[in-house]
Amino acid sequence: MKRLRLVAGNWKMNTTPSFARELAYAIARYAPEFPPVEVILCPPFTSIAAVWEAIKGTTIRLGAQNMHFENEGPFTGEISGSMLLGSGCSAVIIGHSERRRHFGETDQLINKKLKAALLLNTACILADEESYHPRATPIFCLGETLEERQNGKTFEIIERQLKIGLDGLGFDPDQLIIAYEPVWAIGTGVNATPQQASEAHRFLREKLSSLVGSPLAQKIRILYGGSVNAENAGALFAEEEVDGALVGGASLKMDEFVRIVKKAK
Ligand code: PEP
Repeated sequence: MKRLRLVAGNWKMNTTPSFARELAYAIARYAPEFPPVEVILCPPFTSIAAVWEAIKGTTIRLGAQNMHFENEGPFTGEISGSMLLGSGCSAVIIGHSERRRHFGETDQLINKKLKAALLLNTACILADEESYHPRATPIFCLGETLEERQNGKTFEIIERQLKIGLDGLGFDPDQLIIAYEPVWAIGTGVNATPQQASEAHRFLREKLSSLVGSPLAQKIRILYGGSVNAENAGALFAEEEVDGALVGGASLKMDEFVRIVKKAK
């Protein structure tokens, strides 16, 4: 099954609004050359408005790096999905390993956030059936630590993360993106081999098939994330099971990021 390739940039806690605007404008100049690859930029919350200004009207989509599962209320310091929608975002990273590790996000909390994002999507479809386009696409991250891999637990861990994360979701699969991100490969410069990525993606798709049925599982895009750069992207994208990449460090360098996107074509 042919799935649209996707490259998302996770800027993490980097960029001031002025730097973010400059970087987004620089990337946006190449936007006409990106299709059929879909591109999403995920700046920090404080740079969302600046990036939106730069990419609005291009094919590049805006994403956030996190959201709260409630829509509004007494949650000081948090941002909700509808706030993101109102700021131009149509995607959101959920369950990134840095949030799991440094902020105690559990599979159960991630499940609540995924439910909230997909519910928001459904609400948008109902409210605006005519001009429906993707709204609150969650990029659901999962992956094992080095210790878990060394102990032969990779598949057990990612199956658990997948099952709990998707528990009770009545979702439109077109609107779910999964990012397989082995923790040992994130920000380390050590990327998974194309074979390791492909093996994990195939496993995840099999499990997705048993959760939502094969036709739907075939539509869900599974990205690889972990030290992707312009040098290793081509070999990763050559794997049929790799539908694109979630790129951290390399997405902060315009030239490198554009080269990665072009490798996905
Ligand atoms: C990420 O932040 O999701 C990521 C994969 O980071 P890096 O590309 O820097 O490893």
